[in-house]
Amino acid sequence: MHRNKKILLLSHCIFNVNSKVNKIANYGGCLQELVTPLIQKGYGFIQLPCPELLSYGVKRWGQVKQQFDTPYFRKHCETLLEPIIQQLLDYTNNNYEISGCIGVDGSPSCGINHTCKACNWEGEIDENFSLENILNSLNKVEEKGVFMEVFENLLIENRLHLDFYAINEANPTASVQNILKEL
Ligand code: SF4
Repeated sequence: MHRNKKILLLSHCIFNVNSKVNKIANYGGCLQELVTPLIQKGYGFIQLPCPELLSYGVKRWGQVKQQFDTPYFRKHCETLLEPIIQQLLDYTNNNYEISGCIGVDGSPSCGINHTCKACNWEGEIDENFSLENILNSLNKVEEKGVFMEVFENLLIENRLHLDFYAINEANPTASVQNILKEL
């Protein structure tokens, strides 16, 4: 059988929920409701690296976009994405179709349509700490996460175009049908 030359990029945790911050996993291992139909449609896949796991590890706390929006974390994202960009250039130069990138809405790193922000998330959990104040300051903001912003900039620099899609971190299975209609 001939290869069909259709490739999708997916955020790391769509294939491996174990990379997510502990307690926010909504499926057992791989998001089968999305991945199985995409396999049946004949796509090949590139699993993007998880920028948070590869910097803070599996025991990290959940954070907001401002905490990742530093020159150091952006450089880390660029380093991780460099071999991905090289693969995309090679594939597109050889007439493969890069059909899109599926990220994770709500994530401070991999959000596509929205991410989470709060300006007072920092410091230590001590006697002055107010969980209520911290949680009340959390906002859903219509921006990409840091990793996807860096990715988008690298795509532009390299004259590559990708359509972006997203599962919703809070309810991944509910967002699957919309993506499958498009792909
Ligand atoms: S959304 Fe991105 S940063 Fe968060 S666990 Fe998934 S791959 Fe890692």
